[in-house]
Amino acid sequence: MSIAKNIVVVREKINAVARRANRNSDEITLIAVSKTFPAESIREAYASGLRIFGESRVQEFISKLESLKDLPNAEWHMIGHLQTNKAAKAAELFHAVDSLDSLRLAEKLNSAAEELGKKLPVSIEINVGGESAKTGIAPDSQELENILRAAPILAHLEIRGLMTVPPFTEDPEGARPFFRKLRGLRDQIAARYLPKISMDVLSMGMSHDFEVAIEEGSTCVRVGTAIFGKRNYLSED
Ligand SMILES: *Cc1c(COP(=O)(O)O)cnc(C)c1O
Repeated sequence: MSIAKNIVVVREKINAVARRANRNSDEITLIAVSKTFPAESIREAYASGLRIFGESRVQEFISKLESLKDLPNAEWHMIGHLQTNKAAKAAELFHAVDSLDSLRLAEKLNSAAEELGKKLPVSIEINVGGESAKTGIAPDSQELENILRAAPILAHLEIRGLMTVPPFTEDPEGARPFFRKLRGLRDQIAARYLPKISMDVLSMGMSHDFEVAIEEGSTCVRVGTAIFGKRNYLSED
């Protein structure tokens, strides 16, 4: 299967599940997760109409970006764990950071964005399954509370919503309770902080579970394997 054909299949699935769930597929953003794949693969996906790409390592992205600068309106999202010492570089190169996972990182990104004279969209990554091997903030943690309370002084960040990677289960249905939990958390935060903090983005759903995620209200699916094929895990973070 070619990348172009894969994208058609993914789009058809998004449209079909949106229809079944009585949702408008226009409100569901498709992020093509291009980590570990070369610039040519991104170019191919771009040629098929995709504009938003997710990368998980700053260094890897820098090496690809050089040959992708000619793509108008391409939007780059950081979706992986970001070390604070790479925050400034990330704020410069990415259009958005979807994996904000500490107040300290928020402060670093905010200062960097201020220096660059830009406003950086971010989503807060939540570890819904409470897995110790995963990044993301615990749903009921003081850290999450601290970020939300600090939002007014983090004037160069635009908090847009929440992101999660649920525990992996063979059956995508296994992810449903976690997607539901993220949506519930989003609703709680929105009830307390709107309009000061916007909670429009619910970034959940990957190649094997994006249909379940859309049924549960996802506004943004991050799809890698189903578009680009299997990754070489050796080169992954
Ligand atoms: C790799 C990755 C994805 C894409 O996963 P696939 O299963 O290949 O679709 C989505 N989100 C995050 C945060 C990732 O690291």
